[in-house]
Amino acid sequence: MLKKCLYCDSRFRPDHRAYTIQKACRKPSCRWERKHCAQRRWLANNPDYFGPWRLKKREWARTHPSYWKTYRRRHPAYVDQHRLYCRLAMRYQRKKLIKKDGLTPLLDGKSPLQLEFQFTKQNGMDKNTVSI
Ligand SMILES: [Zn+2]
Repeated sequence: MLKKCLYCDSRFRPDHRAYTIQKACRKPSCRWERKHCAQRRWLANNPDYFGPWRLKKREWARTHPSYWKTYRRRHPAYVDQHRLYCRLAMRYQRKKLIKKDGLTPLLDGKSPLQLEFQFTKQNGMDKNTVSI
């Protein structure tokens, strides 16, 4: 039995083990969107989860003002990758704001993670040494 994908409206055959709960097809953009929505929902239900961690991180950065400046100078690949990631995230947010349903296919059918991987591969960066 086919189901309708919540994100791209296409028909898909769900995995037999998750038939009742699977809501997205196998396309990477739909899987990314489903995960993103789930994470947003979880964060909305648990607003204090990252609060103390963020405050600690911010406080640490305040006491070590030159750490990130030095790190970025020594790791230009990280700067490029982070810039790309931010650009994609902002593009995604804009698309989401423009289309109120927020379920638009992403970036020529590719998820930001796919594009990030492609960028990393093209620029000869090792994914394990550069993190976002
Ligand atoms: Zn889909």
